[in-house]
Amino acid sequence: SKGLRRPLVLANWKMNMAPNEVHPYLEKVLPEIEKDTKADVAIAAQDLYLADMVRQVADSRLMVAAENAHWTDEGAYTGETSPKALAMLGVSYVLIGHFERRKLFNETDERVNEKTKAALKNGLKPIVDLDEDLSAYANVKKESVVLKQLALALKGLSETDMKHVAIAYEPTWAIGSGEAASAEQAEKSAALIRQSLANLYSRDLADNTRILYGGSVTTTNASDFLSQEDIDGILVGKAALDPDQFLKLVDLAQ
Ligand code: PGA
Repeated sequence: SKGLRRPLVLANWKMNMAPNEVHPYLEKVLPEIEKDTKADVAIAAQDLYLADMVRQVADSRLMVAAENAHWTDEGAYTGETSPKALAMLGVSYVLIGHFERRKLFNETDERVNEKTKAALKNGLKPIVDLDEDLSAYANVKKESVVLKQLALALKGLSETDMKHVAIAYEPTWAIGSGEAASAEQAEKSAALIRQSLANLYSRDLADNTRILYGGSVTTTNASDFLSQEDIDGILVGKAALDPDQFLKLVDLAQ
């Protein structure tokens, strides 16, 4: 059984959605999300939308997420966003180490670790992304790639810290490609990640940590992922840009 793990449906708008599209999108999804109570639901958006979004979703079950945050609270870091400021604004979650951050912005495992710690220190709930490229996916030793990222991302985090962390497993070739991993393969990786959490912390902690699958999740394949023993949620890019599809995905997680 999935025990006490509540499913998490997380939309990742990335650098999409025009300013005038945000309010109507939320207006459309909010009443429906109030009816569905079995899953946690969050939307990650560009920083400049977050304060307005927090205001609009106030007193609802919809949570707001940042797509990235800096590794310290404040200082001379032109162009960066402070995790402390995000938390003060009422942002709940933050994606850390998304594949696009790692690949396009050279985020290292060390940075991912520092950012995860900074998020936790400020009361944000990090969703730590682990990615796996095609050669790793195809290789017999593929497990070690994501597990190495996992160990480095969580370095120095206590079991208490870990109560606020979720993990997202995303095969890089599945992100935005329209070609998702098979549910069986994703389950295999999620189970390995959970076993690794048990080794790093405890069985109890592993059993209570949410592991998400991300990469070309659609309304058609979402149930296959969500029904897997070790997959506790979905991280959705493209499909979540449409409010109707997003609502369908939230329904499927009930
Ligand atoms: P996608 O994006 O659903 O468009 O593949 C997923 C992600 O980048 O997290």
